[in-house]
Amino acid sequence: MHDDIERVLIDRATIERRLGEVAAQIVADFDARRGNGSGGELTLVPILTGSIIFVADLIRKLPVRMQIHLVSVSSYPSTSTTSRGARIRAELTNLPQGLQGAHVLVIDDILDSGHTMRMVTDLIAGLQPASLRTCVLLHKRRSESADVRADYVCFEIPDRFVVGYGLDYNDYYRNLPKIVVLRPEAVRQER
Ligand code: 5GP
Ligand code: MG
Repeated sequence: MHDDIERVLIDRATIERRLGEVAAQIVADFDARRGNGSGGELTLVPILTGSIIFVADLIRKLPVRMQIHLVSVSSYPSTSTTSRGARIRAELTNLPQGLQGAHVLVIDDILDSGHTMRMVTDLIAGLQPASLRTCVLLHKRRSESADVRADYVCFEIPDRFVVGYGLDYNDYYRNLPKIVVLRPEAVRQER
């Protein structure tokens, strides 16, 4: 498995440190919104499966009362390394209930084209949450995603296919503790 790695993009210690900063920001913003008298609890909506490791680490740095509603989006043909097919393939398979009046934070592993995030936030916006924010571990810099932004971005990365720390290639590599770029030979590019 390690022979497939071209280089380490973000190591474990850097992820750990950055998650602490982002978590502090999330809590401060949440406290400020509740202080405005809007009330409501924090509800996290992680998008499966890529966000699982990120969410598991992040929530232990959020010392607030919260609920978690997992959703899953089918957007990728199994071995594809681009998400351009998301436009036609994406669908949300389990729309969360009871988000009315909640401070919702949607969480994904990576914002690439932005289609996944837009689809999920459009659906949740219709459920009348008290507030709706978005958080991603990674934001891939490419021009097509310019109009979809996440409120909290842990790391900006170049337009390369990355795996590890929850992110997969063909469902492998999620268990790598760091974020890496795969060797081109290890990835069947379909761009
Ligand atoms: P978007 O809808 O923003 O184009 O794509 C977001 C989804 O595509 C993410 O949830 C993730 O599953 C997948 N994705 C996009 N870029 C990468 C990447 O570099 N590596 C991996 N493993 N998944 C990616
Ligand atoms: Mg995903």
